[in-house]
Order: sequence, then structure tokens, then C-alpha cells
Amino acid sequence: MKTALITGITGQDGKYLAKFLIEKGYRIIGMVRSTGEINYTGFDYLDITNQVIFENCDLHDLTQIISLFKKYQPDEVYNLAAQSSVGQSFSQPIGTIQFNIISVLNLLEAIKIIGYPTRFYQASSSEMYGKVSSLPINENTPMHPLSPYAVSKASAHWITTNYREAYRLYNCCGVLFNHESFLRKPSFFVKKVILGAIDIKYRNNEKLFVGNINLKRDFGFAPKYVEAMWLMMQQDKPADYLICSGESVSLKFIIEYIFDRLGLSMQCVEVLPSLLRPTEIEDIYGDNTKAKSELGWDYHYRFSDVLDILLQEELKFQKLIDK
Ligand code: NDP
Repeated sequence: MKTALITGITGQDGKYLAKFLIEKGYRIIGMVRSTGEINYTGFDYLDITNQVIFENCDLHDLTQIISLFKKYQPDEVYNLAAQSSVGQSFSQPIGTIQFNIISVLNLLEAIKIIGYPTRFYQASSSEMYGKVSSLPINENTPMHPLSPYAVSKASAHWITTNYREAYRLYNCCGVLFNHESFLRKPSFFVKKVILGAIDIKYRNNEKLFVGNINLKRDFGFAPKYVEAMWLMMQQDKPADYLICSGESVSLKFIIEYIFDRLGLSMQCVEVLPSLLRPTEIEDIYGDNTKAKSELGWDYHYRFSDVLDILLQEELKFQKLIDK
């Protein structure tokens, strides 16, 4: 039985990845913050709560990481823990930069020091590319990050690459574009729109407040994106891959689509200046050719199909429809 250790297991991707790996027969160690209670709701939703070994660990503390790695000798480490909100990174730049970079460095140091052939996956982000001169983005596009979050992810990406080249570690970076699911945090755009629209339709709320809805992003379906993480870790040689749908849609399109499905008027949508960010990527989409051809990653969803899935799942969870 292989052992996979997942940091950030309490997040969206951590839970879907844990479920996917459990179905493949892995033993799963879930690293959680050393403070605070674990919220098991998402694990219960996926019916995996009792199949994960949860371990407290402060990723700022190298000695704690080393002792956990010695205890479990993981074959694969998936590093998903991060302050993952672009918006929050503008209000908490120091905490975002400190955690998102030092945690990665500590994990890599632990692998290097212990010397066990652990494979390492780093959750990189399309936000690293930021201001680009041409689209689609591919693995060779230069980076120009536009937020503290993006800067932290770019730095973590290059540390991971450096440890691969300098110490011959099996490190790979999955550069994932936005991906959504029922388990997305409510503060993220797509989930916020779905919850907001449902509250207007069924609970007499009046408005959905948004920032700049002319921005375009390449959105995908999280349960399919975690499969690509695993595929990257099964190759003969480690490499970095872009994981994306290959097309962008505007935030306005997403609101219109969900509102149309629920028979709501766009007059319920209001732009709040306080939700605008100091710098924003206008449009971004990627080229997934390398992931599809080298990893055999299969992805065929249009984002409207994903929105239909997510809306139905949410309505069912809230018992507003039967099936
Ligand atoms: P989430 O925000 O849902 O989960 C983040 C995880 O990191 C949670 O488990 C959270 O723990 C943990 N975490 C955050 N801050 C700390 C901290 N200071 N100390 C310890 N743990 C911490 O992210 P996703 O699952 O959506 O994303 C997974 C990874 O992929 C992240 O690194 C993200 O930046 C990256 N990514 C995500 C994309 C997306 O569209 N979802 C796109 C590209 C990259 P807790 O539950 O305790 O808060």
C-alpha cells in the first residue's frame, strides 16, 4: 500500500484528492494546522472521514515535519496548503508571502534531509503568469505576478524547481487554473454567485454584490483536476504541467448563466467599488496540450456544464430539489 501525505487536506482540493487516492488504495495522512478544530463536513460529504489519518503540524516548523515524515515515510507528498485567496493576499501580504513560501521550503528541506525517495507535488497557480503579452499561456510563458498571492506562488514554484535541479528530487509543479466544486469556500466567486442566487430566489435576499465582472478566467472542474495531480506523480521523470480547460469565460457570463437557470434578473447584481482589486488579470486561459498528451489527462467539460453540475448539487444539498 502506498502512503500519500496531503497538506491543506481541509481545503477543496485536499478532500477531492484524498477521495481519489483512497479509491486507488492509498493510505492517506492529512496534515492539518496545529491550532483549531477540524471541520469534518466536507469529509463527511465525500464519505471519507474515517479513512484519513489526521496529523497536526505547523508547516513553519521543520522539526515537526521531519518527525512526521520519519513516522509515515510517505511515497508521495501533495503540498496543497496555502493562503489561497488573491483578494486576501492584498490585505494580508506578509502572512501570505511568509506562509506560502516558507512552508514549501520546509517540506523540501525535510525530504532532502531524510533522503527517502519521496515524490513531491507543489500546487502552483496560473496567477503566477499575471500580465502576459500573448494567450494561451503554456509551460514556457514568462511570469509577471500581479498580486502578493501570485508572487508567493511564483517563488514557491521556483524553489520546487530549484530543489529538483539541484538535488535531483522528484518534484513537480501542477500549474492549475481556477477550478470549482461543491466544496469550494463560499468566498470564492463561483460558489458565491451560486449561493447568492439561491438566497435571492428562495430566501428573499435582494442583491448579489460583486467586483469587476468583465474579467475572464479559465475555469474547470476540481474533481477532474486532482486526477492530473496524481498523474504527474506517476511519470518516469518529474516535470511541470499546466492544468486548464483551454478557454476563458467572463465572470459576467457566470452570473448570467446561473441567474438565467433560476429565472432571476441581472438587476439584482450590484458592483461594489470596495470589491475591486488594486491590480487584476484581465483575461487568462491556458494550453493543456502537454498534460493531455504526456499524462493522458482526459478533460472535456465546457464550463456551462460544470455550472449546471454545481447548481444542481447545491440545490440538492440545501434540499430545494429532490434529485
Ligand atoms: P483552499 O483555500 O480550499 O484550501 C487551502 C488549504 O490550505 C486549507 O486546508 C487550509 O487550512 C490550508 N492553509 C491555509 N493557510 C494555512 C496556514 N497558514 N497554515 C496551515 N494551513 C493553511 O484551497 P484549494 O483547495 O482550492 O487549493 C489547493 C491549492 O491549490 C492551494 O495551494 C491553492 O493556492 C492552489 N490553487 C488553487 C486553485 C483553485 O482554483 N482552487 C488554482 C490554482 C492553485 P484551513 O482549512 O485550516 O484553513
